[in-house]
Amino acid sequence: MKFSTAKKVMLVLLLAAFSIAAVGTLCIEKDSSLYNIALTGVIILTAAGLSVGVIWSKCPHCGRRLFFKMLKWKKCPECGHPLK
Ligand SMILES: [Zn+2]
Repeated sequence: MKFSTAKKVMLVLLLAAFSIAAVGTLCIEKDSSLYNIALTGVIILTAAGLSVGVIWSKCPHCGRRLFFKMLKWKKCPECGHPLK
């Protein structure tokens, strides 16, 4: 997976997790089965999003890991190649 794709996928997954968490907190009764399903979904989406970030957020040229500040980098801080 390319760096930019990984970034988008991670954002979508985390945003989906956040949306479900927000809706769940506001609209779903606690301790109902739907609440537990939503909670499981949030945990899975968050874990998936972070995994994508951790696994694929590296420079395609030199392999440097860029998870921290991955949304900020336009160029690799190590080798200077543009990140696509
Ligand atoms: Zn690099």
